[in-house]
Amino acid sequence: MTRQFFVGGNFKMNPTSREAKKALIKVLNEATLDPNTEVVIAPPSLYLIPVLEQVRKEVKVAAQNCYFKPNGAFTGELSPAQLKDAGVPYVVLGHSERRSLFHEDSALVAQKTRAAIDTGLSVILCVGETLQERESGKTQAVVEEQLKAFIDISKPEDWSKIVIAYEPVWAIGTGKVATPAQAQETHALTRAFLATAVSKEVAESVRIIYGGSVTASNSKELSNQPDIDGFLVGGASLKPEFVDIINAKKA
Ligand code: PEP
Repeated sequence: MTRQFFVGGNFKMNPTSREAKKALIKVLNEATLDPNTEVVIAPPSLYLIPVLEQVRKEVKVAAQNCYFKPNGAFTGELSPAQLKDAGVPYVVLGHSERRSLFHEDSALVAQKTRAAIDTGLSVILCVGETLQERESGKTQAVVEEQLKAFIDISKPEDWSKIVIAYEPVWAIGTGKVATPAQAQETHALTRAFLATAVSKEVAESVRIIYGGSVTASNSKELSNQPDIDGFLVGGASLKPEFVDIINAKKA
């Protein structure tokens, strides 16, 4: 089974001007990108529609979050239906910043994932342990608990719409990247867990991407690991080196 390499760029709450956003898109539009890699960028919600209009067709667009209701009195939220209507194909859910700063638990993330898929969106579903959890040997238990909340309400056909992003919290935005062996170990254990908790077919076909201080210089070795199917990139997605990360598999 070959899984298409996937590179996502999570711009988070950046950049802070439309000019800077245009400059980021220009870099992507003018670059030579590996046609075998699926590329998805997640700009702030304010920029979703202009980015959809400005970015080359091969680059897909994701929202960084959405709610689970289709519409209504939910001030400050975006619905899956609105994203679908705007032509946004992907949404990032369960990012560690949403979990820690905005108190989203795995049950809520699962509910949002259910609603997004039911609306026809694809989901980049983020999981990962804190440093304390890793140091106390709980990495796998944490990742499995985070996934299980969705597994419990999933249908077999959902999994073709999901990319799992394994993002150890201690590696996000810290410059401390997981070693290729650490990332590979968690990805392989997660795939083994999916084989028993969902199905062998899903475990084989679902893409598990790594996130946490990925740069042009560490992406090549990480991309060579058999269970690392791509990256979710934060800080480096705002720099020209994002192009090298997209092309890591080919380089
Ligand atoms: C992220 O926020 O998903 C991320 C991986 O950030 P960074 O690459 O900056 O560590």
